[in-house]
Amino acid sequence: MNFAFVHVRVLRAAILSTTAFISNLEHSHAAEVGAEVAKDSTKLSAEQRKSLEPVLRGLLQAHVDVQERVPGQAPIIVVGDVSFNDSGDELLVELGKGYVPTYYGGDFEDRINALATTVYVYMDKIGPLRGVDFTFEGRDILDYFPYEKGLKEQAEMSQRQTLFHRADAGKGRVLVSAGHGYYFHKKFGWTTQRSLVNGITEDFATPAFAASLDSYLGSRAGEEVFRARSQARDRHAESGKPWTDMASRYFLENMLPNAPEIWNSKPGKGGDMEEYEQDIRSRPLYANHLGVDAAIHLHTNATENPNTRGIRIFYTKGRDVDERLATVGLCYIKESLKSNAAFDAFPVASEPSIGRYGENTYATMPSIVAEIGFHSNKEDAAAIGSYVFRDLAMRGLEKGYRMFREGRGCEEFTVTHPEVNLVSGAQYKADVVFVCTPRYGRFKDPAVPLTIDYGCTAVKDHPFTIKWSASFIDADGIKAKTAVTMTCKPKSSRPA
Ligand SMILES: [Zn+2]
Repeated sequence: MNFAFVHVRVLRAAILSTTAFISNLEHSHAAEVGAEVAKDSTKLSAEQRKSLEPVLRGLLQAHVDVQERVPGQAPIIVVGDVSFNDSGDELLVELGKGYVPTYYGGDFEDRINALATTVYVYMDKIGPLRGVDFTFEGRDILDYFPYEKGLKEQAEMSQRQTLFHRADAGKGRVLVSAGHGYYFHKKFGWTTQRSLVNGITEDFATPAFAASLDSYLGSRAGEEVFRARSQARDRHAESGKPWTDMASRYFLENMLPNAPEIWNSKPGKGGDMEEYEQDIRSRPLYANHLGVDAAIHLHTNATENPNTRGIRIFYTKGRDVDERLATVGLCYIKESLKSNAAFDAFPVASEPSIGRYGENTYATMPSIVAEIGFHSNKEDAAAIGSYVFRDLAMRGLEKGYRMFREGRGCEEFTVTHPEVNLVSGAQYKADVVFVCTPRYGRFKDPAVPLTIDYGCTAVKDHPFTIKWSASFIDADGIKAKTAVTMTCKPKSSRPA
């Protein structure tokens, strides 16, 4: 691997000299690295990692400088040490005590995840990273919030106990959670959790993804699906907003008035955005209450860099089963998008990413946060608004979930066709074998090979060979290609 480190050094100077966003530089660097991309960050040499550390530090500093502060954070924050761990798959970042907020919650996690995403996206083009670990004066953020730590440890413990048999139990129940929705801000009143960007307000976009995933999980995987937000057409009395636009917290308050521990968790904690924080926690707490087998949280992503694109799935560090769900989810979303020429090049992360999401950490079952594109990018926003894109992505995620439940991994749809050796006038049956689980349509049993009858006619003393390329397309439009060779010998011709 021959990396263009001269360019990296030039870039570093550029990054450190400006607080404005550096998307274009980032882009040109990626273009220079070009085809020489490591499959993952562990393939980079120690020297290459060392050279990247100051670049990533500059990238993070530029992001921190323009990041809106949450209560308690210092106005000026200097990013400290940035280094790769020994195996090279994680980046360790020191953010200092000035980054520690007054309240721990989703609003803070959003900032941390945005920083991590900046690093993930940058590293995608060089050698994809699995995790970004932040410390605050050398300590984990939860060391500053012992109460929070206790809650998360509890969830983790019960997760460990129930995870494995839950994943195989075959109960078939899933929570599909559409991110965000209106909440009550103590200063600004009823407000959306995300603002309008490129024609998309995430709060109103996620329910469409949820509806599509719900329908596929029901019809294809035979799952019983629970939704975290209301589908009712009438209005929420207090806010006057349609129920479909309301955050989960209010839906659950209305449905489970006697279970305030789900929707009114940690009352009095969280400041002006208390109900926003309660909304985030209410989703996994509802999943725990239902005892579902998995929780799938649907979002669209955003960053200050308008060029950042693509689909990513986040899981909680150390939760291997969740990681597997995230991995197969990405794999089949990619497969599904590839079946449609309009979205076949839509970027999908090659691996899932570690993230700090309350939606995942409070859940006692496999739980993932799927970020289906960046609404802060024009192209992605157009896709998010497209019914076809949403349907393709959710069809893929459903297949990923189904494969996860069956204990299977990421299997490419492939086909093998035997060589066809014919004698003129005779019949030959070729068994075509499929790998993976395509949706067959006319082929009922995927385990039984498809048999194709061949026959040929050759003129005396004129054997011939034909080669062609065959495409097999399943009922979902997923394509597998193979080469076929057929040789036809005349009846009378004798072996040499
Ligand atoms: Zn979101």
